[in-house]
Amino acid sequence: MTDETPICSAKGCRAAAVWVLAWNNPKIHTPERRKTWLACEEHREHLSQFLGVRGFLKDVVLLKEWEASERPEAPDGS
Ligand SMILES: [Zn+2]
Repeated sequence: MTDETPICSAKGCRAAAVWVLAWNNPKIHTPERRKTWLACEEHREHLSQFLGVRGFLKDVVLLKEWEASERPEAPDGS
């Protein structure tokens, strides 16, 4: 099966993701870079706290909104 249902990023969790946590580690990422974690309803708070206490968390959005607003890629090479 090639079902592309996104799965929660929490360890051991295989629930379908509902949320996207966008984060950035200023020590290793440029400021505009966004890493993303996926979270189910149950783990959204846990994961966002994990990132929040480190000062990494930038944004929490619904997965369907994240996908709907797919950020345009910078045109490259032309
Ligand atoms: Zn989960």
